[in-house]
Amino acid sequence: MELRLYNTLTRQKELLTPIHPGEVRMYHCGPTVYQRPHIGNYRAFLFADLLRRVLELAGYQVLQVMNLTDVGHLVDDAEEGDDKLEAQARRDQLDPWQIVERVSAAFFADMEALAVKPAHVYPRATDHIVEMVAMVERLLEQGHAYRVGDNVYFDVHSFPNYGKLSGNRIEELEAGARLEINSEKKHPADFALWKSDAKHLMKWDTVFGPDGFPGWHIECSAMARKYLGDHFDIHTGGEDNVFPHHECEIAQSESVLEGPFVNLWMHTKFLQVDGGKMGKSLGNAYTLDDLSKRGFSPLDYRFLMMRGSYRNPLNFTWQALQGATEARRNLNDFRSRLAAEAGVTLVDLDSLHVDSAVNRTRLAFQAALSDDLNTSEALAALFVLRNSFIHGKLAAAEYSAALALLAEADDVFGFLDPVIAGGLTDAAIEQLLVARTEARAAKDFARADAIREELSAAHITLEDTADGLKWYRG
Ligand code: AMP
Ligand code: ZN
Repeated sequence: MELRLYNTLTRQKELLTPIHPGEVRMYHCGPTVYQRPHIGNYRAFLFADLLRRVLELAGYQVLQVMNLTDVGHLVDDAEEGDDKLEAQARRDQLDPWQIVERVSAAFFADMEALAVKPAHVYPRATDHIVEMVAMVERLLEQGHAYRVGDNVYFDVHSFPNYGKLSGNRIEELEAGARLEINSEKKHPADFALWKSDAKHLMKWDTVFGPDGFPGWHIECSAMARKYLGDHFDIHTGGEDNVFPHHECEIAQSESVLEGPFVNLWMHTKFLQVDGGKMGKSLGNAYTLDDLSKRGFSPLDYRFLMMRGSYRNPLNFTWQALQGATEARRNLNDFRSRLAAEAGVTLVDLDSLHVDSAVNRTRLAFQAALSDDLNTSEALAALFVLRNSFIHGKLAAAEYSAALALLAEADDVFGFLDPVIAGGLTDAAIEQLLVARTEARAAKDFARADAIREELSAAHITLEDTADGLKWYRG
């Protein structure tokens, strides 16, 4: 399965060719942990999860990193203004570190409720000050950065490619720059790598002075490099991250590395609400709790996100969520009815007859996902299969295969209700059965027996039939 993905940098879909064959390394800009993320933020994180799952479906080994921004993200993304964490701490009269703990816990609970596969690493900015300082020092040595007192700025004129991601030109940025309160920068478009403020609560004593804290952009450059290496495959974020955040990351990292940083930049378009902007002050920056108060589960929201392409803005309405809820229920019902009629049989989807209905659905499903993660078409293919089942047009001999295909599709979408027996999901049972078959083939009968016992303890019954191995719950 080859994947074509849209690259914000080259403004076209490209065939994914990982730097290390068979392996994809990617970094996602994660939440700024000053307030529980709203459902718009989760659109960006669900996209990251979808991308990971599609890469895994395509057979890649994935190394996935999502950071937590717990310092340095200023209120208006500009160079002045409050740090979001510090401002929140003042509002709540709390220590910023307590806020970090509380919001991070809420974030992880939400991600679990949304059935997001945990990333391999969730680095926190404040745990990587040493790496950031080292990068800033290097930029100073190279002449890409300059100090003004205890502050350090990146000189955008030192990086000829500045603007290549966003399409912004330095001259235009400078012409349009508002009159800066901070005149210590050499050029208005320069950005902070390190700042100092004695009043800051989260601050570090470093070579740049006693009261410093990092700029937001250097955080991601340093964390990505630490966990993914100098040059890696994919970096994602919401569309607002293109500029200044990712543009500045490129400038810093490519300067330090004197070479390439990221091959593919992917950005999720915003979730809007009732056709407009989502905002705290507008009272429509909903959280998962707001959804559950109206009777919707996180998986309903997850389904809604898979209905549209990540490259189009998506308009959130309660009606659209209701529609997604019903469609999700229909797919759940489809699965239950197939299971009731077919029993659950192990089917090797790779050996289906090319012309069978399930195989055709599978090809359409995979082709849609391969084309820049076209989830709405992939989903449509599943509904075509369901319709033929409902109308009695799906041959009974294909029920087991259809069920296996739904399991494969749900490995990507993750929005069906988890089916749990004795603590084992369908997918876990299938994996154990594959492991058992492999153990038997390798004549490792002790292992094969141990797996059988584990399944039996979970009340899963195995039966060797003429049609292959079948399993039942209970
Ligand atoms: P923040 O917590 O502000 O750092 O944002 C975390 C992530 O959510 C970033 O990648 C943003 O680009 C993304 N984001 C923020 N608002 C939205 C939205 N309405 N729709 C989609 N993504 C968003
Ligand atoms: Zn970032």
